[in-house]
Amino acid sequence: MTYTNFTVDTDADGIALVTWDMPGKSMNVFTAEVMDELNAIIDATVADKAVKGVVITSGKSSFSGGADLSMIKSMFSFYQDEKAKDPAAAAQKLFDLVGRMTGLFRKLETCGKPWVSAINGTCMGGALEMSLACHGRVASNAKSVKLALPEVKVGIFPGAGGTQRVSRLTDAQSALQMMTTGQSLTATRAKAMNLLHQVVEPDQLIPAAKQMIKDGLKPVAPWDEKGFKVPGGGIWTPASAQLWPAAPAILRRETSGNYPAALAILKCVYEGLQVPFDTGLKIEQRYFTQVLQTTEAYSMIRSLFISMQELGKGARRPAGQPKNEIKKVGVVGAGFMGASIAYVTAAAGISVTLIDRDMEAATKGKSVGEGLVKDSIGKGRLTQDEGAALLARITPSADYADLSDANLVIEAVFEDREVKKAVIEAVEAVLPEGAIFASNTSTLPISGLARNSKRPVDFIGIHFFSPVEKMMLTEVILGKETGDKALAVALDYVAAIKKTPIVVNDTRGFFVNRCVFRYIHEAYDMLIEGVPPAMIENAAKMAGMPVGPLSLNDEVAVDLSMKILKAAVADLGENAVDAKHMQLVTRMVETEGRLGRKNSKGFYDYPPKPAKKSLWPGLKDFYPQKKADDVDVKVLKQRFLVTIALEAARTIEEGIVTDPREADVGSILGFGFAPYTGGVLSYIDGMGVKAFANLCETLASAYGDHFKPTALLQEMAQKGETFYGRFDPYGVKAAA
Ligand code: NAD
Repeated sequence: MTYTNFTVDTDADGIALVTWDMPGKSMNVFTAEVMDELNAIIDATVADKAVKGVVITSGKSSFSGGADLSMIKSMFSFYQDEKAKDPAAAAQKLFDLVGRMTGLFRKLETCGKPWVSAINGTCMGGALEMSLACHGRVASNAKSVKLALPEVKVGIFPGAGGTQRVSRLTDAQSALQMMTTGQSLTATRAKAMNLLHQVVEPDQLIPAAKQMIKDGLKPVAPWDEKGFKVPGGGIWTPASAQLWPAAPAILRRETSGNYPAALAILKCVYEGLQVPFDTGLKIEQRYFTQVLQTTEAYSMIRSLFISMQELGKGARRPAGQPKNEIKKVGVVGAGFMGASIAYVTAAAGISVTLIDRDMEAATKGKSVGEGLVKDSIGKGRLTQDEGAALLARITPSADYADLSDANLVIEAVFEDREVKKAVIEAVEAVLPEGAIFASNTSTLPISGLARNSKRPVDFIGIHFFSPVEKMMLTEVILGKETGDKALAVALDYVAAIKKTPIVVNDTRGFFVNRCVFRYIHEAYDMLIEGVPPAMIENAAKMAGMPVGPLSLNDEVAVDLSMKILKAAVADLGENAVDAKHMQLVTRMVETEGRLGRKNSKGFYDYPPKPAKKSLWPGLKDFYPQKKADDVDVKVLKQRFLVTIALEAARTIEEGIVTDPREADVGSILGFGFAPYTGGVLSYIDGMGVKAFANLCETLASAYGDHFKPTALLQEMAQKGETFYGRFDPYGVKAAA
């Protein structure tokens, strides 16, 4: 029998080697067809008397990424369509669909012949769940081998037996930790957790897996053996009495109750360990069906998986532009940002000329890369040779003539129009025809800077976020005259350095900073109202923001906030800013000398390590303080999310952002907007535009006109539209 996605080779010892290698895909994933074929392989190997056992491995460098999430997304659409007709029947059908993978893996586990999973590379999600259903598991010790059940990161959880098998192989605490965080395990760690039987040299992988079968591996899972005991003795032990009462509290501390899937993992393990294995699987299947019906799961899969992938693959790349291979990049300005931009570029295998005003400054910029390489070598992420090769790709220089063969130049000099103008002119004097100039400015409109350019068609913004080596987002900004080639080069470059781009039109603050400053300004309003600072910070985290607004402002620098407000007044007049905000930041910076983390004094105090930062007590003396009981935390949470989402809606209305996927992905990757919502616009669509507009009205009447719903929102509310429907990124009109 032949299969599309697998080959089966039975050797003289009667061991069938099943190699999973999907044609035309860089990674194996579970699709309906793969499940059909695996089912057929189980039947065929059981029926074939010559087959004594099966080793399953991958023909690719990775083992598998798990279930194809587009398949899961299609389950949502199916459920929504069916629900309208008959909700109970729709839930039952969803339940049956969800059980398909569970049933397939249980069939494999109980087929009567031993199966060994030979894990040669990354093994995630459903693929690890399948491996856990195999009777033996061997992994190669190659650095590339990573095992994880990362489903929680996209709003779902391991729903094909993962919660039941992991918690029957390892202690409950490690199982919960692994599944509620979605963390990746090395092969060594997975073996220490009893999730693997052996870890071997890569070339020993298949022989070792086959040897397990030759050594008489029993085709019975431990939990199917008589007298099986759960590791640690199960739920009703003294150790469990320590773990289980605390577990929900710890989860609440980490997630503020915002992630239904994380809670479902706890329930599956707690309930599942008290019943026979097959009943445990049913419990898991029920919770999975329930979680799949949540807005959180739908929105997270859409933004954090599907949209992110689409944007990464160039969804916004202009048609008809040939792919550009970026061989050499110039970075001008080897300061805080430029040094790191040079590093990430060199890490992607691209040669970089790093220019500053003199050789000393340029060399200092390169030394930032040296520090990062040293760290990576220390953490085992780079070998000495790889580190040396990376650094050899960065050439410090003070001579613009060295840019004469660059494909792209990125400037990251001082945020000053005159300095930038001089740099643009100096670069263009040597830059070859067809090469692109990009500015990393964070506040100066690109069209204005492009006026200094002789070729504004080749001028674009590529806005990085700090720390550059960690932040996955880049904002690509189109000036009025930016041409398609510049956009294509910018996107090809962003893809080469493995970051996710969003493409936005020109405006003050672009997309991300416009939203971020709304967040910070709402915190200013709360301070001015007398809300205790700790409540402001905690409410933001409870709303799902990773960093409180005051803490974030310290990172950004309070004096930068002041400068931005002053620039807005200079450019747009006094009314462009809130006078009370100006007073607050001016007092912080000019009276108190509190600039933020950079001088260890901002809204927080930063004592020398290991002491932790704490809110500056003097802040309470700025405004008469409200009593905590008089402040409604629920409203604080709403104010943060609504003010940011409203700003995002304005960027759509103004045509700054044109694709809802970019607003959502940009908000999560750029400033960690409550990921469980799926991003700023999914937050609005998730509650319904009408409900959002009503909430805006309520907040506006209590907290100011900046909450007033915009004309577009009112129109959409009236027509019953969604952002994903009205601004359909796929060009087909369909309500999301
Ligand atoms: P920085 O002061 O750390 O670095 C600027 C560098 O430019 C310095 O090394 C300086 O010597 C060099 N420079 C100045 N004039 C020059 C010239 N004529 N020729 C060559 N080099 C020159 O500043 P930074 O924080 O790295 O910011 C650089 C740019 O990046 C700014 O436009 C800023 O708005 C933008 N940006 C900053 C951040 C951030 O978090 N700091 C984030 C995104 C974007």
